[in-house]
Amino acid sequence: MGNRNTAKLRKLKEVLTYAADNIPWYRQRFISLGIDVAKLNKISDMGMLPLLSKKELVALSSTTESNFAKQDLFYIGFTTGTTSVPMPVYYTKSDFAEWEQLLITAFGWGDTGVRSHGTVGLAIGRFGINALALIEATRKSGMTVMFIDTDIIGIDGLIRMLNDFQVTILFTFPSLVRELAIRIQETNQGYPRSLRQIFTGGEPWAETLRKLVKNVLNVEIYDIYGSSEAGLIGFECSHHTGLHITAHHNIVEIIDPKTGMESKPGEYGEIVVTSLWRKGIPLIRYRTGDLSAWSNVTCPCGLSYPIISRVRGRIDDLIFFGSTKIDPVSIEELITAKFGQSLGFQVVLDRVGGRDRLIIRLEVQAEISDVESKAREFLDSFSRITEDVAYIIQTKLVHEPMIEIVSKGHLERSGERKTPRLIDRRSR
Ligand SMILES: [Zn+2]
Repeated sequence: MGNRNTAKLRKLKEVLTYAADNIPWYRQRFISLGIDVAKLNKISDMGMLPLLSKKELVALSSTTESNFAKQDLFYIGFTTGTTSVPMPVYYTKSDFAEWEQLLITAFGWGDTGVRSHGTVGLAIGRFGINALALIEATRKSGMTVMFIDTDIIGIDGLIRMLNDFQVTILFTFPSLVRELAIRIQETNQGYPRSLRQIFTGGEPWAETLRKLVKNVLNVEIYDIYGSSEAGLIGFECSHHTGLHITAHHNIVEIIDPKTGMESKPGEYGEIVVTSLWRKGIPLIRYRTGDLSAWSNVTCPCGLSYPIISRVRGRIDDLIFFGSTKIDPVSIEELITAKFGQSLGFQVVLDRVGGRDRLIIRLEVQAEISDVESKAREFLDSFSRITEDVAYIIQTKLVHEPMIEIVSKGHLERSGERKTPRLIDRRSR
């Protein structure tokens, strides 16, 4: 333990020194805050380093004066920016090599003999650094890779591809896995026989929904957590105890987003990551905006990487009523439990006479028997789902929450293909 922490501290100091030496923005920041890297004696001292917001990272990434962008650069791309402006992302050659290796290890692709004939399908939207790293990791593991653009071929096209090309491993978003399962059920097709594993990332989803979908598709589903900026931060092993942190590559903290204080185990907070390997853009105490909690579980897999719970959504998705909040994943869990299937949903908020009105829109794709009484049951449970929700209903809403049943394709979309969980029309 001691040795590992010493090595980590050494790496951290290297990263800080590199940032200060190469990036004027970091250098000035450290000077103005009186930070002396040499005085860092233990990992926990990093709490004195300032947090890095996404906004600051955008500014930092966009500066042309930094010489980091000229050094050993392999890749320049842009984050997809579902909620904000696209941000440039730089990877050096060594960054990329590290990431590739990290993926191979996390997916258990080290033993290439077992899988050398597999086909990996990538249905991950736009082509970017994630796709590139996955393609390279696949190639190095001796497998075949196929890029699947579902915006062009649609969900039926995806099912056809999975079957025709005997795809064994699929990388995609949870919302697409959900659509896939619904379509397979709707059309009474059997599950894709060759498919063994699905890796999902990029969106949170409820465990109840995941189980449901897993049964329809008859596959193992693994969550992976990362971003274009930070690479792979966490991954699930076959025991699904949570996300194992890639602790040799990143230092992860979970903080209270309001106070910046470290969260206790089990307490949800914002994931903050310090990358020990990214040189393209050093990430030092970067606020990801994602919610998770430390877990005390000891995983039977034997990996010594610490575990955080699966990502519970983005802080931006939390539905705030003053300081109390509703977490959309808990709504998804309840919907799946009450309706026995996955339904698309959206929370719509507006203001009526100085109070908030809350409507939950449910997208019903096919006939559901007894939908009215199921909706009533759902609302009843919703009002008691957490103490926060009960409090909000009593004190903040103009009347009880309401349900609106809409048919397929009638939820509001934001740009590409994502359905925002929250439409907030309350003027502030
Ligand atoms: Zn494990």
